[in-house]
Amino acid sequence: MSKLTDIMKNRMAFSFELFPPKTEKGTATLLGEGGVLDKLMTMKPDYISCTYGAGGTNVGLQVPVLDAIKAKGADPVAHFTCIGNTREGIREQLQNYLDHGIENVLALRGDLPFGWTGTGGDLRYATELVKFIRQEFGDKFTIAVAGSPEGHIACRSLEADISFLKQKQDEGADFIMTQLCWDMDQFRRWMDAIRKAGITMPVDVGIMPVLAMDSTINMALSRNGCVIPRALSEIISKHWIFPNPFAPNESEESIAAKKAAFLEAGLEYTVRLIDEYRVCGISGIHLYALNKYEHVARLVEMSGIKDM
Ligand code: FAD
Repeated sequence: MSKLTDIMKNRMAFSFELFPPKTEKGTATLLGEGGVLDKLMTMKPDYISCTYGAGGTNVGLQVPVLDAIKAKGADPVAHFTCIGNTREGIREQLQNYLDHGIENVLALRGDLPFGWTGTGGDLRYATELVKFIRQEFGDKFTIAVAGSPEGHIACRSLEADISFLKQKQDEGADFIMTQLCWDMDQFRRWMDAIRKAGITMPVDVGIMPVLAMDSTINMALSRNGCVIPRALSEIISKHWIFPNPFAPNESEESIAAKKAAFLEAGLEYTVRLIDEYRVCGISGIHLYALNKYEHVARLVEMSGIKDM
């Protein structure tokens, strides 16, 4: 049993997700002395993962971010996708992770760049990637895989999606990291369904903090087609800041006040969501930290998750 699944067997795991910064300033803010990563480390996460550039872009800084996570004492998890990657390229990149002491990988198909119909690489699905990693590297990696409680946007049915998730387990995956899901009724149905399907892997729930209106709508609808439940819709409606026919000349002050009020309501909403998740038989809370500290720290404090 791997270190991470071992933790999940005994208690709820607690982790963050970062992305590779695109600018020097972003890098200094995240990785510099006393920067965001140093501050996140004070909350003692079990692991920190770093994304792999969507469509194979912006991969460059992933390994330096993972190195920094390891150097500061947390377990690094490398997201990895099939997009544009040959078998040889996959082998090289995974060996490079091992050479850097990075032994946890989130094996993904990856989001297809706009207009693409396939991955443009040698492997088509995450199931094939999990199989390839086990064939090439045996047990050297702990392998996490994605799960979509609402069904992946392109799946032909929820049943098909769950059967592919089972296949990921059969190919050797160790645990599930979930796509954002604000629809708790659907999440509970999905948990029942995957357990009935024989999926026994621990479920580590990805939580997208509700901090700003535009990013909340963007995260739900730009790629994943996620349900925005009534309670969250109400928060968005009450603090609406986009072109507003009822207040076409709204002042900057009014907009700033609405953004601040949205943030408070969003934090409270996220804490209640975490409470609901914690009683659903899950094995971990994975906070999409979005390379930020202050709001994430408030969420951790308000929800009490670092003491799980
Ligand atoms: P798969 O499991 O391969 O599924 C893709 C689709 O194909 C689904 O509709 C599924 O039902 C179907 N399918 C699966 N297997 C088969 C099969 N054998 N035959 C037919 N159909 C099949 N993307 C990035 O680019 N970079 C990241 O860093 C990143 N991080 C993520 C982190 C988390 C926690 C999650 C949940 C997602 C992340 N993603 C990331 C997004 C992810 O790459 C997308 O959701 C992608 O569209 C699907 O990836 P997957 O691994 O779930 O694909």
